[in-house]
Amino acid sequence: MFMQRFIASLAKGVFTIARCKSCSSVVWPPNPVCRICLGMDMEWVDMYPARDEIRGRIVMVSESHIRKARFALIELENGIRLFGRIMDDDKDLCTGSPVLMVGCGIEGDEPYYVFKSFQASTSNT
Ligand SMILES: [Zn+2]
Repeated sequence: MFMQRFIASLAKGVFTIARCKSCSSVVWPPNPVCRICLGMDMEWVDMYPARDEIRGRIVMVSESHIRKARFALIELENGIRLFGRIMDDDKDLCTGSPVLMVGCGIEGDEPYYVFKSFQASTSNT
């Protein structure tokens, strides 16, 4: 039941995360029990890729290309780690590159997350 709530939102293109009401930890993957404090009082936070800036950084880039997309392990600002597709393959993607979620959904039975690289306005180079 718990996971279905997440999947149902994702199917509509909404990235919904579970957050523990007791300690405010993001619980990922969505789970009815908080891994930090074992609390069971969860709230859902809806995030819309088109509206909210869901930012993250690349942890690891996969060598494989599937349907013109590059896959990478991405860590979002809230600590969530997931595998995403990165659309602009012409750019040099590497560990630490900032990315922005531009879409998510369900394809077949599998969740997918689409990212593009973006240049952070505060660059320290
Ligand atoms: Zn908690």
